Order: sequence, then C-alpha cells, then structure tokens
Amino acid sequence: APRTIIVGGVAGGMSAATRLRRLDDDREIIVIERGPHVSFASCGLPYYVGGEIQDRASLLVQTPESLRARFALDVRVRHEVVSVDRQTRTIRVRDLATGAEEALDYDTLILSPGTVPPAPLTGSEDGIPVATLRTIGDVDRIVETLSSGATHAIVAGGGFIGLEAVENLARRGIRVTLVHRGALPFRPLDAEMAGPVVEELRAHDVDLRLSDAIARVTETGVVLDSGDALDADLVIDARGPRPDTALAVAAGLPLGHSGGIAVDAWHRTSDPRIFAVGDATEKTDAASGAAALVTMAGLANRHGRSAADAIVLGVDAVEPAEPATGVAILRVFDLVIATVGASEARLRAEGTPHRIVHTHPTDHAGYFPGAERMAIKLMIAPADDRILGAQIVGGRGVDRRIDVLSLAMQTGVPASRLSRLELAYAPPFGAAKDAVNQLGYVADNLRGGLTRTLQWHELDAAREAGATLIDVRSPAEVAAGAIPGSVRIPLDELRSGGTPLPKGPLVVHCQVGQRGHTAARLLSAAGHDVRNLDGGYLTWAAGR
Ligand code: FAD
Repeated sequence: APRTIIVGGVAGGMSAATRLRRLDDDREIIVIERGPHVSFASCGLPYYVGGEIQDRASLLVQTPESLRARFALDVRVRHEVVSVDRQTRTIRVRDLATGAEEALDYDTLILSPGTVPPAPLTGSEDGIPVATLRTIGDVDRIVETLSSGATHAIVAGGGFIGLEAVENLARRGIRVTLVHRGALPFRPLDAEMAGPVVEELRAHDVDLRLSDAIARVTETGVVLDSGDALDADLVIDARGPRPDTALAVAAGLPLGHSGGIAVDAWHRTSDPRIFAVGDATEKTDAASGAAALVTMAGLANRHGRSAADAIVLGVDAVEPAEPATGVAILRVFDLVIATVGASEARLRAEGTPHRIVHTHPTDHAGYFPGAERMAIKLMIAPADDRILGAQIVGGRGVDRRIDVLSLAMQTGVPASRLSRLELAYAPPFGAAKDAVNQLGYVADNLRGGLTRTLQWHELDAAREAGATLIDVRSPAEVAAGAIPGSVRIPLDELRSGGTPLPKGPLVVHCQVGQRGHTAARLLSAAGHDVRNLDGGYLTWAAGR
C-alpha cells in the first residue's frame, strides 16, 4: 500500500490524515508530531486561560489512541522530523524521549508544520516567567503561574492572539498591560476603526503601551524601549507568527515572496510528491492577487483536506484552492472586531486605487428592543466595483455581516450588488434594508456619481482650501459633541431655505452619513458644489 507521511498533527496535518483515510482505506498513514498532543484546539487556548472553557480535556479534540481506533492512523507524538531526503524519498525521525533516529520512506509527504515562536525576549532565561500561547503546555504553565498568586501580567503583541490573551487575563481578575509596537492595536484595522478598540481596552482598565516594545525581561518585570520599568508576574509573548519553513528550506523546496513555502493551487511544492498546507505556506491574497501569509485555522483545515483529495484522486479531479480573503473575527470584551481583505492603510501603501464607504447601521431594526450599532468600513476598487476589503466593529450581528462580505469578495459580487442581496430578516435579527444592503446602496450612489463623499482625514485639507462644513444634525445631537467651527443647520431647516448658505464648496455631515446624503442631494440640486462627510460625525470622532 502507498505510504503518506504527515509532518505536524494539528489543524492542517490532521485534516489531511483523516480525509486520506476516508478516501483510501488501504493507505499507510503516519503522522509525526513534535509535541505531546495532536489535534488540539489551538484557537480555544486563550479561553481556557480565562476560564470560559473550564474542561482542559475538551481542548484535546482527539488523541493518538482515538485516531488509531477510528482512522487506523499511526500517530507518533514527541517525534520530530529532522530532515527530508527527496532523492531517496525518506525522512529522518527523531524520538524526542530517547534521541533515537530512524529513517522512514514515503510515497507522498505532507508538511503542515505551522509557525515558529518569536525569538526569545532578552533576559527571559532568568527573569519573570515568559510564555507563548501556542500549545497545551503553554496554557498549563500560564494557568499555574496565574493560580500561584499572580496579579499583573504583560502581553507582548496586540494582534488577535494578544488581544484574546488580554481579554482572558482580565476575565480572571489579573491586571493587564498590553505592549504593542504599532500606534494602534490589531493592524488589520484602520485608525478610525481601531479607536473604539482602544476605548474598550481602557474601559476595562487595560494599561496600553502603544508604539513601544519590551526591551528586556528582568527578575521583577520588564523594561520597555521607552525606558519605563513595569513590575509583573508573567509575560505572555504573543508577537506575530512566522511560517516554520526550516524543514522545507533544508530539503531545497523554494519559498514564495511572502516567506511561506511556495505551493500551487493543489498544495504541491516544487516537488510533486511533497505537499504543504497551513500557516507555513504561502497563500494568494484575494484582494490583490499577490502572495501573502494568512495564518487562519479554516484555511489550514480546508487545504489539508484538499491536499488529501489531490493525493488520492489526482489533481485533475480536484478544484484548485481559491485565493484567501483572510476573514477574521475576534472578541475584545464587549466588542466584536472583524476584518476581511485589505485595509485602507495597505491599499494606500500599495498605491492601489480605492473608494471608501463608512456606515453605522444597527444589527436589527431600530424599533425592536436591544438594537446595537456597529461601524462598517468597505474598500472598493473604483475601476470595476470589486470589494477589496471590509472592517466591522460592533457587537451583535458583526459575525453575520463579515461572512456575507467575505463570501461576496470570494465569489466576486461587486460592491453595488450588495444592495440586491437577499438576506434573512425579521425584527429581532436584521432590517428590511440590511446593513450589507445599505453598504451596497452607498456604493451604488458613489459609482453612479449620485453622491460625492469626503473622508474624515480629508476634512481639514478641504476646509483649509475654503470649504464650509455644515452640520445638519439636531441641536440635541450637536450638544452631545460636534466638529468645531461647523455651521449648524438641521436638515429640515435646510430644505425650508431659511438660512443663507455661504458661497463656495460645501461639506455636509450628520451623525452617520445618511441625512448628510439627503442634504448633499438637496444642495447639489440647488446648484451647490457639495460633498458628504463619509460616516458622519461618528467616523470623524473615532478617527480623530
Ligand atoms: P499547527 O496547527 O500549528 O500545527 C503544526 C504542528 O506541527 C505543531 O504542533 C508542531 O509541533 C508540528 N511540527 C512542526 N514541525 C515539526 C517537525 N519537524 N516534526 C514534527 N512535528 C512538527 N485561527 C483562526 O482561524 N481563528 C482563531 O480564533 C484562531 N485562534 C488562535 C488562537 C491561538 C492561541 C493560536 C495559537 C492560533 C489561533 N488560530 C486561529 C490560528 C490557527 O490555530 C492556525 O492557523 C492553525 O492551527 C494552523 O494549522 P497548521 O496545521 O498550519 O499548524
């Protein structure tokens, strides 16, 4: 029987192994895993630290024994693949308990080695405990330290794992400092979308150290690049993952531009007998078509399964992998943050032309109790109306909207067509004009030139160039916060024409952009040169 060896027994590796077995009952399938556990719920680890997941055993989705019993898999934990010889089609495997090595030959090999931990922080050998948040062993150590009277923890890195760590440490009553190199946490979010995340962290007493980094770990805490010294009991190192390409490189397999293992749409490396999937591999970015690293569990699972299909059924029988939208979602206390595709910052850095839409819809009909507002940002390619990316920050209903937008991106639904999508609605769940439909209306108005908008960060320049800003909100809204120096004319008075308008270009704004659009239409019909401040006061205030 043919033999397939799989390196790495968690997300991508185990999806490949079990699919292989379902397709081919005769094949010999060997899974080699360096760690003591296979098929564990990495994504659940932060919630075990926080105590929301209480049963440690529930993180261990499968064991070598259960996999042998159900799938006849030969799973070898605490074994490491140390080299691959492509000429003889053999790998060398080291038993980490005994140090003994053995050669195994393969017909096909699947690499799913994941990521490598960040380089150790200076001073971590003899300072306070430093842990990454990657394995069951990591969370055991973290929970042990927290249970032995820790009161203050420092999280290094404000990516999704860092933010999940912050939330879960705080949930346990631990005082948390988040040290993040960037000016704002969670890089996929643009500034005006990240503003509420900063507020949420501060509202939960998280000590935020932005544009800073840990210079060294000491016996009592850490010293930051800024020179600040902080006392702490524990550091969780959640700095960004890097693809684990060592084995592939040593075997002479090429990497792509992103630094991940280069694979084709059937997950084949340059050697047709060696497949690679998961965080270690390069993906194609759905927004730009460029090479990218996207380290998400869904892709690893899907690609593992599809590599098994290609091995057993042949590539001609298998659909090629689709570009990755990179859709992601996370919870930070009471906020839900979700992103897909490219950010505005990235589009600007790449010089990619784009159009932006900001909206602030509620998750369900405003007249039904409990409606929660969310902020949505959509990036669109002006040339062909393609969706380039989206960001949502809110509460309930964020998950559903980001998935619809990811689906739209993946299947090429143009932004204007979002207005015509048929989406489930009853008052507790949505609105007759769903948040996604509303994005489509605005996109369509922009595309057709029915409305012209101005972004929050363009306002100062427009005013310096002579534009007058008109706030069309009600006096009560203005009293609760307004953009300095605006002329205040509520929308209904604007129509009655009682107030004389200044000459020259106008920028109108309301709270979220909708009444602003009506005002802009009214004024442009009256012959004014007018633009609507996109996303209204709320977007401007969040970006300030
Ligand atoms: P992994 O699952 O990391 O598995 C790789 C395995 O290979 C490792 O166990 C490693 O020990 C083993 N290995 C490496 N080299 C060798 C070798 N030479 N010999 C033997 N074994 C080897 N993704 C989401 O989509 N949503 C989430 O909410 C989410 N949350 C996460 C939270 C945390 C704390 C972490 C750490 C990750 C999270 N992820 C999340 C990411 C997700 O877990 C990864 O994308 C996914 O696990 C990648 O699968 P993989 O098979 O490529 O690598």
